Amino acid sequence: MDYYPLFMDLRGRRVLVVGGGVVAARKVALLARADAAITVIAPRVCREVAARRDAGELAHVARRFVDADLEASTLVVAATDDRELHVRISRACRARGIPVNVVDDTPLCSAITPAMIDRSPIQIAISSGGVAPVLARRLRAWIEAAIPPAYGRLAGLAARFRGRVKSRFASGDARRRFWQRVLAGPVADLVFSGRESEAERVLEREIGRAAEEAPAVGDVALVGAGPGDPDLLTFRALRLMQEADVVLHDRLVSEPVLDLCRRDAERVYVGKRRSNHHVTQDRINAELIRRARAGQRVVRLKGGDPFIFGRGGEEIGELMAAGIPFQVVPGITAASGCAAYAGIPLTHRDHAQSVQFVTGHLRDGGLDLDWHNLARAGQTLAVYMGLAGVRELCTRLVDHGRGADTPAALVQQGTRPGQRVYVGTLDTLPGLIEHHDVQAPTLIIIGEVVQLHRRLQWFRPESKVEAGAAAGDESGVEALAAAS
Ligand code: SAH
Repeated sequence: MDYYPLFMDLRGRRVLVVGGGVVAARKVALLARADAAITVIAPRVCREVAARRDAGELAHVARRFVDADLEASTLVVAATDDRELHVRISRACRARGIPVNVVDDTPLCSAITPAMIDRSPIQIAISSGGVAPVLARRLRAWIEAAIPPAYGRLAGLAARFRGRVKSRFASGDARRRFWQRVLAGPVADLVFSGRESEAERVLEREIGRAAEEAPAVGDVALVGAGPGDPDLLTFRALRLMQEADVVLHDRLVSEPVLDLCRRDAERVYVGKRRSNHHVTQDRINAELIRRARAGQRVVRLKGGDPFIFGRGGEEIGELMAAGIPFQVVPGITAASGCAAYAGIPLTHRDHAQSVQFVTGHLRDGGLDLDWHNLARAGQTLAVYMGLAGVRELCTRLVDHGRGADTPAALVQQGTRPGQRVYVGTLDTLPGLIEHHDVQAPTLIIIGEVVQLHRRLQWFRPESKVEAGAAAGDESGVEALAAAS
């Protein structure tokens, strides 16, 4: 180990900053966050340092550095452009045993500042020992992205309950187990999704419950899995998938996305048959409730976004009624994913001022839609579940005044390695589907924007995987029965 990591308490401590330029100002800003008593030694200072001096946040000594300045300093930062001066400061500090940080000159440092992730009171410091600061910063960016911004608030919550938990559990072991369970569970997720008072209530309940040894309550996360490319998951979706005890998914969720679930998580396929929607939806709802009541952390994983043709509203309605803690995690809906990966902007200043998401799902063998409204020019239609009803869709739009030559696209397996895009018009669309044997999942995009595809297409998946996953497993009911 080249450097010994250490966090320093600088509150009210004298910290000397030699230099008054912009680099010194950056150091000063950081030191100010640590409430250090900062003294800047420099004949001249930049505007930012001057502003802090004028605001009384630091003392400024307007002259060159002398060794006597080091007196009573806890830390010294040298940030001038005078290398000789830096050498002198470094030597003088080492002789007196004062930690010294010299900007951009690791050999002269006895202390180096790491790249930092600040979720106060949680702080993460990363160092490459000064040899590859860019790598340390990249690492920081990754970690920054992976740790929910509210992590600090979670630590704050834990701090507030620390005393209570301590008096509740006699042994350190029991306390640790309690915190481990609580901080990886629903309490943390409530904090991360901005519901701190609810988190406090659950934590209260958990403290009481732990004393009675009753099982903990689980929770349900309704998670949007996006259109298929696993890279399009949200950070929150991924985190919940990796914490889940069980994942209930339907057939739109792609294999590569499922692969990102916690390895030990039980996977339950709850795909639906078209004919008995109602029965199955009820069973899914009941299953979510049953498992959460048994203390499981349940992820209900849905293709795209759970609130767009995903019955998400019905599922959380039931959870709400049953008093099960839940949250909803949005996902990239098929329209956004397919449009982006097909190079078809859904709106465009010259072609479309609005976009409508429409279901093309047949009800009682027909489509019951507001055709007048849908046939208006200057807008884009993104039609979900539209393959079976495509003939009626196209005919009705034309009957209501949309030109038969209006451009239309089929995006099959959007964002996945097997993505195919077929472009035609309202007139030719049904024929295209037959000719190319287009299968679900396919999104239909109708409107002038479709013509942009020729120019803007950019996603050309390398492996031409045939659209096989679409065939899907129709045994949802059985799979559910077997699991329950
Ligand atoms: N909740 C989902 C939609 C469910 S309805 C979402 O927000 O995306 C199912 C329909 O979505 C399919 O019939 C198809 O029209 C569309 N769809 C979903 N994923 C798709 C994909 N990867 N490529 C093309 N269409 C997709």
